[in-house]
Amino acid sequence: MIPASYGRLGQLAGRFREQVKARFETLNQRRVFWESVLQGPVAEMIFAGKDRKAEQLLEQALEEGSTGHSDGEVYLVGGGPGDPDLLTFKALRLMQQADVVVYDRLVSRRVLDLCRRDADRVFVGKACNQHVISQEEINALLVRLAKEGKRVLRLKGGDPFIFGRGGEEIGELMAEDIPFQVVPGITSASGCAAYAGIPLTHQNYAQSVRFVTGHMKDGQCDLPWPELVQEHQTLVIYMGLLSLTQICEQLMRHGMSPRMPIALVENGTLPEQRILTGTLADIADQAAVTDFQPPALIIIGKVVALRDRLDWYSQS
Ligand code: SAH
Repeated sequence: MIPASYGRLGQLAGRFREQVKARFETLNQRRVFWESVLQGPVAEMIFAGKDRKAEQLLEQALEEGSTGHSDGEVYLVGGGPGDPDLLTFKALRLMQQADVVVYDRLVSRRVLDLCRRDADRVFVGKACNQHVISQEEINALLVRLAKEGKRVLRLKGGDPFIFGRGGEEIGELMAEDIPFQVVPGITSASGCAAYAGIPLTHQNYAQSVRFVTGHMKDGQCDLPWPELVQEHQTLVIYMGLLSLTQICEQLMRHGMSPRMPIALVENGTLPEQRILTGTLADIADQAAVTDFQPPALIIIGKVVALRDRLDWYSQS
């Protein structure tokens, strides 16, 4: 799959290696220079068979000392729910390009492994309730790294704009005039539902789907309960495992049937994915017995019952 002309490009690069070393002091400058050569007009000339022209362009770039990217920028990228095959092409390209990766606990190991090997990695925690560093510190970190001229990959689980604090982070970048891009990812609701064989909408059972957070404040899960109890609506609850008992009780108190099907998906889309199905009345006890752990997603609605027929992933 590698074009034959890459050999000639490699030879050209080899001939200039020492000169580039002498011209650029730091490893980072050299790498940025070589990237601009290998992904820019010099490479294109080689691919077009114009080797002499390519050499002239390379000499010129070396003389000007232009490393291409001098300004830093931030890529706010959704890393999806876990399975690396669910990344977008755009996410993967930026992951291969960034100088530093700032990532959360929810980013799966297998996704992280696809980032450029020599990129610096900064873990910023974020298991529920116990942030390793605060959101303000993360915002400030992104700004500082970009101002140092780095290409910063802010890698998040799922989609950055769904319970991902993506808005806060780019708000800060915007205020500081730092260029950035946002790359959507597959949110865990989509990923978990697909891999659990539960269609979130269905012509007969659900005409709408609602994403809510079950994150508790002062031990309370404060949600607009009456709105959540709707006949033809699927409810997806993020960050809700710790408040599962409360959620089920409140929904029943507000009129949802105790027999309403409910599913918990732990580590969705990953090989270790576990799924538990039950009813509003019995799921909390079952979850305790089977020791379900975050990250887990809760799906409530009649569509959950379809899993009996549509489960394709755990059977494969
Ligand atoms: N931006 C993310 C959500 C972050 S909130 C997204 O779009 O998916 C964190 C919550 O997402 C977790 O508490 C859990 O409810 C859910 N979650 C993320 N990844 C998950 C996975 N692989 N399996 C199950 N739930 C997951």
